[in-house]
Amino acid sequence: MTDLIDRLKDKSLLRTDSYVNAAWIAGEDRFAVTNPADRSVLAEVADVGEAGARKAVDAADQAFQSWKKTSVYERARLIQKWNDLILEHADDLGTLITAEMGKPFGEAKGEVIYGAGFVAWSAEEAKRLHGETLQTPFPGSRGWTLRQPVGVVGCITPWNFPAAMITRKCAPALAAGCTMVVKPAPETPLTALALAELADRAGIPKGVFNVICGDAQKIGPVLTGSDVVRMIGFTGSTQVGKLLMKQAADTVKRVSLELGGNAPFIVMDDADIEKAAEGVIASKFRAAGQTCVSANRIIAQGAIADQLVEAIASRMGKLKVGSGFDKGVQIGPLIHEEAVARVDKLVQDAKKRGAKILTGGSPLVDELGGAFYAPTLIDGGNDYALELACFEIFGPVASVYRADDEAEILRLANDTPYGLAAYLYTSDVNRVHRMSEGLDFGMIGVNAPMVGSPATPFGGVKESGIGREGGKWGVEEFTEMKFVLLGGVD
Ligand code: NAP
Repeated sequence: MTDLIDRLKDKSLLRTDSYVNAAWIAGEDRFAVTNPADRSVLAEVADVGEAGARKAVDAADQAFQSWKKTSVYERARLIQKWNDLILEHADDLGTLITAEMGKPFGEAKGEVIYGAGFVAWSAEEAKRLHGETLQTPFPGSRGWTLRQPVGVVGCITPWNFPAAMITRKCAPALAAGCTMVVKPAPETPLTALALAELADRAGIPKGVFNVICGDAQKIGPVLTGSDVVRMIGFTGSTQVGKLLMKQAADTVKRVSLELGGNAPFIVMDDADIEKAAEGVIASKFRAAGQTCVSANRIIAQGAIADQLVEAIASRMGKLKVGSGFDKGVQIGPLIHEEAVARVDKLVQDAKKRGAKILTGGSPLVDELGGAFYAPTLIDGGNDYALELACFEIFGPVASVYRADDEAEILRLANDTPYGLAAYLYTSDVNRVHRMSEGLDFGMIGVNAPMVGSPATPFGGVKESGIGREGGKWGVEEFTEMKFVLLGGVD
């Protein structure tokens, strides 16, 4: 580990101060960033507090005046350069992600490539942003719309995708002509700061992209309260999303919120069970189950439930748990030991209520020396009131439930305040239409366990959020539509 960190230091990719106005600034305090696999301290990162946040907002405001006027071709060129550098350093960024977040290195590098996809897409899409000419009711007049950047954007991100949650917001925002102040999660600031270093090397002008680390209670109100910041882009929990929305209301900011989920993974009795079981493993165990789109309630129709449970169990038996740097490991640690305790509480509730624990069911903290939890399979029967079914699990715990008919399955799947992703396995095309239309979720994977890509809209309904990331919609989020009416045309 020390070797890897030294190598990153040599390449100036281990940054521990905040990046503001193209300079590295420190604050009065520092906080430790630890490796969740072994509790070792990776670095002490500067907390720039309220003063640093104000400096970053001022820098972004000043930079906005020129960035918004920069030709879109020039913006695209710089963003593309950033993309090239991210890809060139995919191993380095992957190393940082595994070290501070814990996911297996292959998955971490995959995240870097996925995240870079949004950067490349945004660089291209920027050139396609356009308004329209419109019919008007007034003789001798013309009307048209313009797409203009929203302004300075405050961006607050979580730890589970330390690179992709930043690029998915920042690349389209920069492409649209906005400037950014990013506050990453305190668990994973190192990846964010390395992305800032690469943006600097790409030549993104000073003040356009700023990354500040520190106490959310001090930085958050500066971003939400400033009348210069015109939009808050947030990925994180529904609880914090609601709070930010309230705080942003005073200055009537635009908000784009990617919040929590409670994804049903529905397997109908006409599905290919083996493919469905493979899908469960892919959806459930990525990032040790710590994704917002992870299968949270596996709902099996009627008689196939036992067969599905068996197919999942046999695949789970092969999952290797350990440090994300160890060869062959598929399940890394959770983000910290509080997360282990939270997941275990959900499992203990299921045990108490009579659910069957088929494999796992306990922490592996003592055995493996880090924030590990055993991959766990639970048969919840018909008990949809288990805490596991009601709350986002955010851990490597798969829980299977049973239901009989289609209408009942739809009702149960929709019985949650969340509406991010849902999955449906079936071979009946009519069912695909009926059920995908009936599921109250922003994204539906049909016979597919993953839904995100740079070209497609990502986002939720109900308490899972507002707005879409990805595709042309992801860039449009960061624009205002202005209408111009020209009168007196002969
Ligand atoms: P979180 O606790 O909501 O934190 C997310 C970010 O918000 C962190 O940077 C956090 O910093 C910051 N924050 C917390 N309180 C704040 C406040 N009062 N003012 C300003 N910032 C504040 O979420 P998390 O535990 O890191 O991430 C897990 C959640 O994210 C899950 O619910 C997951 O479903 C969701 N998520 C959603 C998506 C999606 O696309 N929909 C993607 C990934 C994750 P501090 O930690 O310093 O407080």
